[in-house]
Amino acid sequence: MKAWVIEKIADLLIEKNPLKLIRMDYPLPEKKEILIKVHACAVCHTEIDEIEGRAVPSFLPIIPGHQIVGEVVDTGKAVKKFKIGDRAGAGWIYSACGKCEFCKKGLENLCSEFKATGKDAHGGYAEYFKINEDFAFHIPENLSYEEAAPLFCAGAIGYRSLMLSKPENGHNIGLIGFGASGHLVLKMIKHLYHDSKVFVFARDSDQRKLALRLGAYWAGDIEESPPEKLHSAIDTTPVWKPPLIMLKHLKPSGRLVINAIRKEETDKNEVLKIEYSRDLWLEREIKTVANVTRKDISEFLKIASEIPLKPEIELYPFDRANDALLDIKNRKIRGAKVLKI
Ligand SMILES: [Zn+2]
Ligand SMILES: [Zn+2]
Repeated sequence: MKAWVIEKIADLLIEKNPLKLIRMDYPLPEKKEILIKVHACAVCHTEIDEIEGRAVPSFLPIIPGHQIVGEVVDTGKAVKKFKIGDRAGAGWIYSACGKCEFCKKGLENLCSEFKATGKDAHGGYAEYFKINEDFAFHIPENLSYEEAAPLFCAGAIGYRSLMLSKPENGHNIGLIGFGASGHLVLKMIKHLYHDSKVFVFARDSDQRKLALRLGAYWAGDIEESPPEKLHSAIDTTPVWKPPLIMLKHLKPSGRLVINAIRKEETDKNEVLKIEYSRDLWLEREIKTVANVTRKDISEFLKIASEIPLKPEIELYPFDRANDALLDIKNRKIRGAKVLKI
């Protein structure tokens, strides 16, 4: 089969067509594994982090990609939930141990043996992909392959962030940053919590206009004060300052959820600190989001199908994988980028 692989890690290699197209053997599904003929794989910023060494793959060469959808074409002998011809997908979670204290509580995202698709196991920038059926998902009927693919990362992790903010109908919810995940979270809030008001904080005026068009109650710059205090806020920015300045806008017992794997260093001249009485007192709290669980993905797919939630997408033919990555790197963002395979 044809597959794109990361062969080596290097600084800023992304400008030089870092993925290499190779031919390799078809993966053979064992026992509980299913083989998926990949129809679409969405492109994520994480692939750039892998190539440039900020999220180092477990082995090389590796096929990246963790928003994979396609058709089941072969199954291991013990497979029960899928049959040949089913539409199936997979996200960031490739496997977890199933035995540790976290797995037992459904917090498999925190398992020390958590394996990530396209980072600790081959992913979906290829014609075929295999995974244990327990970590694969049926794709709702009313979503096309291309529409479903981006939901497996930005959407599912956005859903986890929203749930960790402990939302209730009528709550004022802030969204700090308004990228792919922010859009989807806003649409989820409008669907699940009709009486809630959404306050969007974004530097870019086009993003603020888009937020208002999609139903945000208010949109302003990061530095602006919202007209009302917030029950919770979800941060998806890559830097430290926006979530920190948001703490003072939270109501008593309010919760700040930070959905970011890492935060860029701040400007050394800028002193950022949490002032206890202004920012945390009165039972306000900060929570971070790590990875994603199977429950997040399956619950989110159900909601996405009900709404129905159709992300804005930009298609790239399979042989233009490097261009798709470059466009993400250069922030040519017109919607989720999806490789058509
Ligand atoms: Zn991703
Ligand atoms: Zn575990």
